[in-house]
Amino acid sequence: MSIRIDEELCTGCGSCMESCIYRAIELKNNIATVLPNCTLCGACIEACPEEAITLERDDVKAQKLDISQFKGVWVVAEHYKKKIQNISLQLLSKGRELADLLQVNLSLVILGAEFDDKLEEFSLYGMDEIIYVKSPILKEYYSDLYTKVITELVLENKPEIILIGATPTGRDFAPRVAKRLNAGLTADCTGLEINLETRNLLQTRPTYGGAIMATIRTPSSRPQMATVRAGIFKMPEKIKKNVNIKKLEYDFKEIDSVSKIVKVISKTRNTVNLEDAKFIVAGGRGVGSKEDFRLIEELASVLDAELGGSRITVELNWLDPDRQIGQTGKTVSPKLYIACGISGAIQHIVGMQNSDIIVAINKDPNAPIFNWAHYGIVGDLHEIIPVLIDEIKKIKVEE
Ligand SMILES: Cc1cc2nc3c(=O)[nH]c(=O)nc-3n(C[C@H](O)[C@H](O)[C@H](O)COP(=O)(O)OP(=O)(O)OC[C@H]3O[C@@H](n4cnc5c(N)ncnc54)[C@H](O)[C@@H]3O)c2cc1C
Repeated sequence: MSIRIDEELCTGCGSCMESCIYRAIELKNNIATVLPNCTLCGACIEACPEEAITLERDDVKAQKLDISQFKGVWVVAEHYKKKIQNISLQLLSKGRELADLLQVNLSLVILGAEFDDKLEEFSLYGMDEIIYVKSPILKEYYSDLYTKVITELVLENKPEIILIGATPTGRDFAPRVAKRLNAGLTADCTGLEINLETRNLLQTRPTYGGAIMATIRTPSSRPQMATVRAGIFKMPEKIKKNVNIKKLEYDFKEIDSVSKIVKVISKTRNTVNLEDAKFIVAGGRGVGSKEDFRLIEELASVLDAELGGSRITVELNWLDPDRQIGQTGKTVSPKLYIACGISGAIQHIVGMQNSDIIVAINKDPNAPIFNWAHYGIVGDLHEIIPVLIDEIKKIKVEE
């Protein structure tokens, strides 16, 4: 990108110089000139009364990209031990919706080594096509090989949307691919919609520390790339349909990569899998203390639910960090989410808003959590939860 000054329009008024906190503009022969320390912040564009300053994107300038050539929605599969991870299946479910709206194909792109006997099973997840890039070395994740292969595939096939899991792997290769393609990439999206008129992907994500939700478009570049965290979208229903399978064999060697995988060590610690939990009981600061959290645990136990909480409960050491739900914790979408003494800050909401049924217990009738809850109970959780536990136990005995 670069700042362009139209010499015909520039009057040398100096408004741009005053607006530039980096002192990156000076007047030469009464015409504004941009200096190398320009950060492309764009303040001068706003300041120019003659509209003589514009920001030019190199890709638009150089390639005059014909975005109408790009068609199709892709999901790049994340896999481990010959199993496609849930995040990729969830992206297939959203991808199907987007592809149907755009009336294009949905493709699953797998880079791997041992999937020949698995493709039929994978094909039940609603895609129209599987592109399987097979190479023995791709049994493991190689950052630069993923970047190379996906970039080449995109240049050849021109998909208009690529969805990737916001996992350590996805977060690693997605920006590398985007840079090579000069494409827009929005990380950690919590919502994806389509503007059918422009075919732009509307990518929503929290910004400014979660204070606001921003919707980002990349109208002048393709493909439109987005990473999404696990648990944002639902798992797809399995369906039987004809899926076109395209297999591409490569014979990459370790030498083709700058990195060498010496050993893969699986994490042995048992971490909770909140993303897949069907029922979650979560506590917030309103629970009062670590000891009082036993009440939340008891409610979770009678419901066979997982235990979760807001960030502050982790900071106060009432709860283990892997049970934090929200923007900097886990994203969950259970059938039932019971929020106890949680105010409903947006950073918490983005992690649980996709739950099927949300029940909130809070003593403040104006707590924002009630704007999201399907059922609200106003009152002291220390009085309400024991009654709930008793009632659930009674129902269980009757059953
Ligand atoms: C960059 C950033 C990232 C963040 N990430 C996350 C995140 O991932 N997850 C997250 O949760 N937060 C996150 N936060 C913090 C978030 O902004 C809130 O501060 C936090 O969610 C508040 O936690 P809380 O609702 O438990 O506590 P509070 O906001 O203090 O709410 C406590 C609630 O309990 C109610 N209450 C009190 N006593 C009782 C009682 N006896 N019975 C019933 N109700 C009672 C009160 O009315 C109140 O509504 C983040 C913040 C930032 C800036």
